[in-house]
Amino acid sequence: MAYRRNYNRPYYGARSVTDAVPKTDGFASEKQRAFALRLVADIEAAEPGLPADLATAVGAMIAGIDGLATVLSDNVADDGTPAWRTVPTRQMSTVIDGLKAVSTLVANYKPADPALAAVGQHDRAMVTRFDGKCHRCGERTTAGTDWAVQAGGAWKAWCRDCASGATAAKQDDLAAQQEADRAASALAHQQAEQVFGAVGTNVLNGNAVRFAVPGDDGALRFYILKAGKRRFFMVQIVGGHAPQPVTVERHRQVLADLCFIGDEGIRAAVVRYGKEIGECGICGRTLTDEESRAAGIGPVCAGRW
Ligand SMILES: [Zn+2]
Ligand SMILES: [Zn+2]
Repeated sequence: MAYRRNYNRPYYGARSVTDAVPKTDGFASEKQRAFALRLVADIEAAEPGLPADLATAVGAMIAGIDGLATVLSDNVADDGTPAWRTVPTRQMSTVIDGLKAVSTLVANYKPADPALAAVGQHDRAMVTRFDGKCHRCGERTTAGTDWAVQAGGAWKAWCRDCASGATAAKQDDLAAQQEADRAASALAHQQAEQVFGAVGTNVLNGNAVRFAVPGDDGALRFYILKAGKRRFFMVQIVGGHAPQPVTVERHRQVLADLCFIGDEGIRAAVVRYGKEIGECGICGRTLTDEESRAAGIGPVCAGRW
């Protein structure tokens, strides 16, 4: 294989490390090219903000080493006999220059400040010297704790959270939370509808149903579920307090408790309420009769159910 003469500074001006990798004809073999590509992919993955000049230098160095490898591989004839030949000085210099350039750039290379991770391309950045307002989120920025960033000549104030990307992360979290809440709300609404459906309109007296369910810790919770015109309301009865409204939209616990009803059936939960509280779970009348108290439901409501 003939020594290729085209290794001189072949990849100047490359925009990324991958660009800087020689094309197939610059390498002795596809295998070497694949190796070089893998190497630069690793470098890019480890340091995504790699400056273009470093990328170019790495590419030139890889090309130089590859050229050298080509020369050295030519030193063995096909029959295995060593066929020594001199490595051209220029070839050697390319590699040495490449190594020097890369080591200098690496030594001087400062990775991006994580505190400014979301700022992007800028000329200068310094800690704020005056109070101001974040140009991104509008929050107040204070002297000594936030950032003043110059890009394209203009200075702008960045609060710490916007500069580091924490604001974006917070917004993502918030959006995910809202999405989860919407899903929970829809499910809770569905469960509430099922509870009313399971009791049946001929049984329901008014628009409420009372029930008790054991929580995760085994302690009973007492609820009144009311149907409004467009949504459901839950009231939790906690001894010694006025009944506490809990919005079905908000409380995951309510959803869990409604799902529990789905498992055991609403009647069991209504009867449990009646036995424990001493009120009919359907009409809310006090259960004084021995038989009703044992049944956990008033005689009229029991007859309809
Ligand atoms: Zn901000
Ligand atoms: Zn009743």
